[in-house]
Amino acid sequence: MTPPRPIYLDCGATTPVDPRVVAAMLPWLGEHFGNPASRSHAWGWEAEQAVETARRQVAALIGADAREIVWTSGATESDNLAIAGVAQQHAGRGRHLLSVRTEHQAVLDTLSALQRQGFDVTLLDVGADGLVDAQAFAAALRPDTLLASVMLVNNEIGVVQDIATLGALCRARGVLFHVDAAQATGKLAIDWATLPVDLMSLTAHKTHGPKGIGALVVRREPRVRLAAQMHGGGHEHGLRSGTLATHQIVGMGEAFRIAAQELARDTAHAQALHQRLLRGLQGVSGMHLNGHPTRRVPHNLNLAFDGVAAEALMLAVPELALSSGSACSSGSAQPSHVLRALGASDERAHASLRISLGRFTTAAEIDRAAELLRQGVTQLRDSQ
Ligand SMILES: *Cc1c(COP(=O)(O)O)cnc(C)c1O
Repeated sequence: MTPPRPIYLDCGATTPVDPRVVAAMLPWLGEHFGNPASRSHAWGWEAEQAVETARRQVAALIGADAREIVWTSGATESDNLAIAGVAQQHAGRGRHLLSVRTEHQAVLDTLSALQRQGFDVTLLDVGADGLVDAQAFAAALRPDTLLASVMLVNNEIGVVQDIATLGALCRARGVLFHVDAAQATGKLAIDWATLPVDLMSLTAHKTHGPKGIGALVVRREPRVRLAAQMHGGGHEHGLRSGTLATHQIVGMGEAFRIAAQELARDTAHAQALHQRLLRGLQGVSGMHLNGHPTRRVPHNLNLAFDGVAAEALMLAVPELALSSGSACSSGSAQPSHVLRALGASDERAHASLRISLGRFTTAAEIDRAAELLRQGVTQLRDSQ
């Protein structure tokens, strides 16, 4: 007999695909297999129509123009296209790029690659709460700064950066501003029309859509020019060549349509579960919530239990699917670069685990998780 699957509390790594999304995708994997770039027959036309409907749905979630959406394979590719695309396109105007130590590896590694090509990179520290200080950010902007990149919602600790303020500082200095919003869609309202943001990375699979599809939002007014990173048939206005994955795109469109429709309900749901879990853990001594207590999305609880190694705790509660650090860098024994940036000691970082919630997480699952974590922490502390 196979053991039951653990309770899924790792929505920061990926979310379950909404069954409505699966249903919307299936016909485009089967019967409707045409290439959306085929202009000479109905197979192509219907696929193209499906792609354009999804483009409007993705744009609508954030209030962008559908023409501003460039399909990519996910937020990693969007981050690469945004940052390397600006750096290469505008290298004649400057060599400096500004970002933050707590960014996703897709941003940090792209910046490192550009640094090796001769660009000058500054990574800002954050406060103990995980937030960027606007004054420090302003002071780090230089006359030769081409681009600043700051994520909206942090994938490990869930804190929300004040991108409106940071973007306004960029605008005032003529610096392009990129925002990785992979963890933000469906969790908080995003108003592209009023935000001073030039480029925004999106992905479907953190918002109950399929893996392997995302978008880069590229502002049209004022128009942002980018150097393509993928060369070929000239798809997506030449910015990202490659045959469009109709079924994936339809899935992302449906996921974002649902996210827009259910944003208020999903947020209230996560808020209630967040409070419920904290209540369930009340009285556990030496417990800390990493990151700012209120400037965060409720979907994330990054918790440290003093004296309890997260790896040991996860082994003690196999009924729960949790994560220590981010999925992208776990497997390495290095403490999380995000927690280190908050000034956490190695011990605190190793004692931290991430619980992340989604649309399909239930109150019963949260109650069970609280009970198991409470038992696990007690058991590990008693055995020391
Ligand atoms: C998941 C994630 C990414 C990577 O997105 P993929 O679509 O998996 O490539 C980038 N940035 C953040 C903040 C993420 O959470």
